[in-house]
Amino acid sequence: MERIPGKKQRTFPERNDGPARIPSISAKSEHKADMTKCAEAVKKSLLDAGCNKAEVMATDGHPVVYGEKIIDPSKPTVLVYGHYDVQPPEPLELWHSGPFEPVIKDGMVFARGSADDKGQFYMHVKALEIMTKTNSMSTNIKFLIEGEEEVGSPNLGKFVGANKALLKADVILISDSSMLSMNPFAGYGSGGSVISK
Ligand SMILES: [Zn+2]
Repeated sequence: MERIPGKKQRTFPERNDGPARIPSISAKSEHKADMTKCAEAVKKSLLDAGCNKAEVMATDGHPVVYGEKIIDPSKPTVLVYGHYDVQPPEPLELWHSGPFEPVIKDGMVFARGSADDKGQFYMHVKALEIMTKTNSMSTNIKFLIEGEEEVGSPNLGKFVGANKALLKADVILISDSSMLSMNPFAGYGSGGSVISK
């Protein structure tokens, strides 16, 4: 793996309209408008990074953001999964700074969702941006960024079933896990739960 030199960018925490500043709390109905606002901000970040197409797609709950950059349909396609919703930030008294006022401390971004999952999927958005700028893409890329992961993804199955052709991919990259070391690594396998009635 090669490091691509470039200017350090701080658009994730500092941009006023960035996803980290939007309280996209899927579990609370009073944040419904914030969910749409955050989905639109994610869509914008995908288009800014070089996606040919990005859209906010309705579900029976909070919307899904879909984006793609197809360089050659005969090449393999990677589908990146992530989510833009976050857990409620309470108890607020335990925060040293506002949960939706991102700050950088010791090289890390502190904000609700920065480590689950806004930071992780944004890493892949920025990777796309670098590949677009350096014309170094070797696969097609699609993004599915949902807004209901923290409430059990009640509408994702239906969404996927209704959009099989759109989401068709050779590999799925889950950008919703922890960083095991500061070096690049690829994890394989993931825990999960199955609920049956
Ligand atoms: Zn997550």
